[in-house]
Amino acid sequence: MPKAIIIGGVAGGATAASQLRRIDETIDITIYDKGRDISFGNCGLPYNIGGEVSRREKLIAATPESFAEKNVDVYTRHEVMSVDTDKNTVMVKDTEENVELEDSYDYLILSPGAAPRTVPALLDVPEAFVLHTLEDLDLIQAHIKMTGVNKAVVIGAGYIGLEMIENLVERGLDVTFIHRRESIYAPLEDDLSEFFAAEMESRGITVKLNTEIVEVNGGIATLTNGEEIEAPMIIAGIGILPQTKFLETSGIKLTETGLIPVDSTGCTNIDNVFALGDAIETTYQHVDQKTNVALAWGAHRMAFVISHQISGDKSAAFEGLLGTNIMRFFDYDIATLGLSEKEVSDYDHFIVDHKQRNKAGYMEGSIPIQVRLYVGRNDGRILRASVVGKEGVDKRIDILAAHIRLGGTAMDLANIEIAYSPPYSSPKSVLNMAGYKTIEKMKKLNE
Ligand SMILES: Cc1cc2nc3c(=O)[nH]c(=O)nc-3n(C[C@H](O)[C@H](O)[C@H](O)COP(=O)(O)OP(=O)(O)OC[C@H]3O[C@@H](n4cnc5c(N)ncnc54)[C@H](O)[C@@H]3O)c2cc1C
Repeated sequence: MPKAIIIGGVAGGATAASQLRRIDETIDITIYDKGRDISFGNCGLPYNIGGEVSRREKLIAATPESFAEKNVDVYTRHEVMSVDTDKNTVMVKDTEENVELEDSYDYLILSPGAAPRTVPALLDVPEAFVLHTLEDLDLIQAHIKMTGVNKAVVIGAGYIGLEMIENLVERGLDVTFIHRRESIYAPLEDDLSEFFAAEMESRGITVKLNTEIVEVNGGIATLTNGEEIEAPMIIAGIGILPQTKFLETSGIKLTETGLIPVDSTGCTNIDNVFALGDAIETTYQHVDQKTNVALAWGAHRMAFVISHQISGDKSAAFEGLLGTNIMRFFDYDIATLGLSEKEVSDYDHFIVDHKQRNKAGYMEGSIPIQVRLYVGRNDGRILRASVVGKEGVDKRIDILAAHIRLGGTAMDLANIEIAYSPPYSSPKSVLNMAGYKTIEKMKKLNE
């Protein structure tokens, strides 16, 4: 009986185990995870703090017990310390019992994810937290309940930091936001991000930009300019790093930044070792360029591909990523896809901007929605897109993702027959109009 060992039992690992068991009832499957919990919805963690996820148990999709019923062995608090790809073995440390064991595999699936970054000023500060696991969530919830804290400081302007700001405000806390740069939310263009600061101000959030915490002492944080602020709870959302150090001696190829390169079958440079999730380097779907997208869709899709590959269905393939993402910040929705602004600057392109009302302009409550496209100068390919508004952003970004996936150009957007009725759109939607604008621009450029 072949045996698959899976390292990491949350988004990618647990999904791969479930998929593999679903298609292959006989293969042995063992999951090792160094954490306390497996198979929880990381993406929902912030919303338990704000109350939109009313019970934390709802975030748990599967447990070691429910996996045992499917004949999948799960070992939590078991950290894989090293992998030997010549012998097909892993060295695992049971961190509760403090003992090491060796286990062997026919197939190895790596889904170790990425760990939150920290800064020296927050190390060993009892009131400083990150939010990455269910354990982190429990620590934050316990701190709020035990100390009755009514103020929080959030550092970092990625989506986790911003989601935490929203949810802490919903929870009734006074929030101070600290960010070391001027612009908020790096995935979005500076001029499209301006609403963040205004939105924060209107919600009573104190915003401190271009500064950092240099020291925390007794619930008081000192900033770069010497200012001291109350910080009885600090949440840091300042980026992530792939958790792949344990692979450094394994013979599994890693990039300079510690990512695991994989091909379209999820396979690494070793033919019985597969990888998925936040720790992999894959390719973009729409351009021939490597990327790492630390988001859930890719982990779930790759779990499907790898489990089919292992079970003998060689037709399953991963077609790369667009990095399609969306975030809510109070009343706003923000979505982007494709290359980053920095990456897109290497391509010969022009920008198409279009803003119009999300539904027929004469309807009460119609509000603006803005689309920005980065269009390839030679072929009209959509290299990058950003959509910002208060309603209908999800629909537009998903249409764009499907359109690009099926080979549609920016000009072709004019041809998408959208569903029209005044509460939903105009007869020419914001995407149709971006298409018409692209056609005009292309004509002018080619004159
Ligand atoms: C707060 C939060 C909100 C998010 N919101 C969204 C969202 O809205 N949309 C979206 O698309 N994505 C979101 N994400 C990202 C998404 O959760 C990740 O992309 C996804 O979890 C990646 O799956 P993974 O399997 O690679 O890593 P993870 O789900 O992080 O699992 C990795 C597991 O591997 C274990 N592990 C690591 N090293 C070892 C080792 N050596 N031995 C044993 N076990 C090990 C870890 O303990 C961990 O449990 C969010 C993430 C967070 C933290």
